[in-house]
Amino acid sequence: ATVSVTLSTTSNLAKRGVLSKGSTYLSQLGAIKAIAFDKTGTLTKGKPEVTDVYFNDSVNKETMIDIVVAMESESNHPLATAILEKFEATNKYDIDVENQIGKGLEGVYNDKVYRIGKPTSFENVSQEYRQLNEQWAADGKTVVYISEDEHVIGLIALMDVPKEGTKEAIEYFKSLDIHTTLITGDSEMTGKAVAEQLGLDEVIANVLPENKSAIINEQKEKFGTTAMVGDGVNDAPALVSADVGIAMGEGTDVAVDVSDIVLMKNDLSKLVNSHKIAKKMSRVIW
Ligand code: ADP
Ligand code: MG
Repeated sequence: ATVSVTLSTTSNLAKRGVLSKGSTYLSQLGAIKAIAFDKTGTLTKGKPEVTDVYFNDSVNKETMIDIVVAMESESNHPLATAILEKFEATNKYDIDVENQIGKGLEGVYNDKVYRIGKPTSFENVSQEYRQLNEQWAADGKTVVYISEDEHVIGLIALMDVPKEGTKEAIEYFKSLDIHTTLITGDSEMTGKAVAEQLGLDEVIANVLPENKSAIINEQKEKFGTTAMVGDGVNDAPALVSADVGIAMGEGTDVAVDVSDIVLMKNDLSKLVNSHKIAKKMSRVIW
């Protein structure tokens, strides 16, 4: 009876756009005590848009934008896509760019060093910039600084809105006393703002890609059976560490490959349905 129940459950789920790579994962899903989510592309649409741009009066704004465009053309980060779209610019300069994972980009142009990236990786930031950063981050925006030879000379804010159904999915898990955590490489302030908007229990921010998996292991120790939901290459180790790794179907191939369950539409309401079914299923089996 057990086998036929799980088989029919698996195919039933497949019809609803959820692929489970084995029935064990479904029963694990039904038993989770904690669930962690990546931010960009998982809770949010993963398509940020530039909302604010600010440069010092001391620099030539047009030239700076050209430099930013040239550098971001070398990146395939969602922030890069958004910045290129905003400026609709053609790439005028050929800048050799180093991609510092989890931090941003660095390049040299006309003997000057330019960096674009995460506020925490810059020193000597003026009060004015820190205030703008805080103000924008409090709205849940991601802020990146731009520096020229160690001087921060501009900032760009980007907003990525939550997907439909995200808030309801979080509410559902919380109503069952399942601990919900946001894990993000983004800043503490931005992470907190998003977590508050969506009602998550906990937020762990400034996480470097290589540390996501260690955090999942901590959650397992603390709470018990833990699921991780993610979409990116940098989520892959955490998806593997989790008792149940869940990938967004439109996520990167690596995330889909290493996960146990794939949500074919990028829709967290599918996850809620799967959890309900998984719980019912474990009642039938036991
Ligand atoms: P996430 O967990 O949100 O996917 P990442 O680890 O990819 O975060 O990136 C963390 C941070 O590094 C971003 O929030 C941003 O500040 C900075 N960053 C990464 N890539 C870029 C880029 N191409 N341009 C500007 N900033 C970047
Ligand atoms: Mg992501």
